Amino acid sequence: MAEFSLIQRYFQSKTLPHGSTHLGIGDDCAISHIPTGVQLVSCVDTLIAGRHFPLHTSAHAIGWKSVAVNLSDLAAMGATPYAILLALSLPHVEEEWLQAFSQGLADCCHKYGVQLIGGDTTQSPTLTISITALGWVKTGHAICRSGANIGDYICVSGTVGDASLALISALKQESSPVQTALDYPQPQLQLGQQLQGYASAMIDISDGLAQDLGHILQASQVGAVLTLETLPTSETLKHYPLTEQWHHQLTGGDDYQLCFCISPKNYQQFCKTYQYTPCIIGQITSSPELILTYHGQRQHLNLKGYQHFE
Ligand code: ADP
Ligand code: MG
Repeated sequence: MAEFSLIQRYFQSKTLPHGSTHLGIGDDCAISHIPTGVQLVSCVDTLIAGRHFPLHTSAHAIGWKSVAVNLSDLAAMGATPYAILLALSLPHVEEEWLQAFSQGLADCCHKYGVQLIGGDTTQSPTLTISITALGWVKTGHAICRSGANIGDYICVSGTVGDASLALISALKQESSPVQTALDYPQPQLQLGQQLQGYASAMIDISDGLAQDLGHILQASQVGAVLTLETLPTSETLKHYPLTEQWHHQLTGGDDYQLCFCISPKNYQQFCKTYQYTPCIIGQITSSPELILTYHGQRQHLNLKGYQHFE
């Protein structure tokens, strides 16, 4: 199949139009209107078959997840997503696979109001999907990693550890009750936007809670105490011994929940405004270290998260 008819059939035809797009797929570049009073927020994430997802992952899930992990980065800044660009490297053209992949990609785009405005299609021995995501944030209102203050609560947006647990089953080609946590992450875009003006620092959890919280601590030059008994845990994960639960929750990857810091005063305000009580899992401290406690007892665990170069 000619490259352009492939692009037309699988990508252009499934694209949802967005009001900010002046020109989408088809020319050398896309052209976009940038709304007034906003800053452009952009990120890119690459998924490599066998490295970022097991080789037999369904094509639909690969499409969904490639978009979702990028939108999760936008969510972590409090941004509103606008569009993505897709650089796709395929070993060969397999229509059934492309159909399911492009549908998964489109489903995620449609759910979050995002348009595919361009990309690049190449042949390569390893399936590689690189997505660039664009979004907006009201000028000066992005939530960075560097803003955490001593005394802030540390919160997470949902259960952690399930994707890491599911990966063990997936690698053995067994099904898991928490498989969707691994295959279909849900970027926390609405919460990220609501936290603007409330949260002092935020990150999305992609490489393990301990490591990702560590990025906030380092950027903000603070420390933290995490209370392990408060970590949100799925019914499935609860069946495992505590040390295994903590291993998945603190060092497992692919959760795509938000971890954020918020002053006690803003926390009260936020709960009142949104009728939603984020789960508090710890507090920011002045001594530059991450302390773990379980019902007041200090715990010493190996906290190495996912390392890309090991
Ligand atoms: P160029 O040679 O100028 O880079 P291409 O022939 O690669 O252009 O692409 C033609 C058009 O199709 C461009 O608008 C490009 O953004 C778009 N495109 C190419 N591959 C993809 C893809 N995988 N998904 C979405 N759009 C794509
Ligand atoms: Mg060109």
